[in-house]
Amino acid sequence: MRILKPYYRYFLFFLLILAGCKETEVTPQQSVSLTPEQEQLLLGNPSGATAQESNPNNFLMEKPQFALSYSRQRGTPNWVSWHVSRQWLGSAERQDNFRPDPALPEGWYQVSASAYRGTGFDRGHNTPSADRTNSVESNAATFLMTNMIPQAPNNNQQTWANLEDYTRALVAAGMEVYVVMGSYGQGGTGSNGFAKTIDNGRVTVPARIWKVLVVLPEGENDLQRISRTTRVIAVDTPNEESVRSDWASYRTTVDAIEKATGYDLLSALPEQVQHVLESQVDEQAIP
Ligand code: MN
Ligand code: MN
Repeated sequence: MRILKPYYRYFLFFLLILAGCKETEVTPQQSVSLTPEQEQLLLGNPSGATAQESNPNNFLMEKPQFALSYSRQRGTPNWVSWHVSRQWLGSAERQDNFRPDPALPEGWYQVSASAYRGTGFDRGHNTPSADRTNSVESNAATFLMTNMIPQAPNNNQQTWANLEDYTRALVAAGMEVYVVMGSYGQGGTGSNGFAKTIDNGRVTVPARIWKVLVVLPEGENDLQRISRTTRVIAVDTPNEESVRSDWASYRTTVDAIEKATGYDLLSALPEQVQHVLESQVDEQAIP
């Protein structure tokens, strides 16, 4: 016993060190092993988009700031997916440098900054400029034309702007939000009336614009902690000047959007969790 006692003391000390190491191993920030690209697509790739030129209408583009499925035929993204958290928000100024996306495959038509001019439709961001203000570079990425759709001004400046503000208000209140936005159908009504296409037929005007938000308290291991009780907000709006500014009145189910688009949203979540989350309409009161 007398011989063992000091040995035990060392052993205990060793255990304490181990416990200390373990603790520092568990605490680091969530992006431990996620690249920014993985972060933007954490909840899945809704249309199974691939980065192959042979897939021109479901062409995957991954940027550090957002990921998207591009349609060469439509000249717009089908959907754009991104994560909004405090890490992405800062004080960078709005760059306003709308420009063609040089990351499109060679030989593909690049929608230009002036393609929407005089059409009665706004260059509507999918990933909003104000969601990417942690650096000038981040913010500039949102002005690539592959992030734009022809959006009725009232939809863009009122309905959508309100929903975007609400999303960032959630982040300011301690949440983080995974967002997927997309558009489908053909033909919208802007400030000059109805149009099916603009830019000499090279850009399709969508009929509907939707968004799905998954809202989590700020934390780690986001995919693992999304459960049947996680808040999901799904919205589907008409691309028309007569749209109501109150986005909450357009709340719907993820299932309805999946049915309308043929996509599988939140596909990275277990089937049973998707089943529950996708069949509900968000009912929280909006301030
Ligand atoms: Mn906008
Ligand atoms: Mn789904």
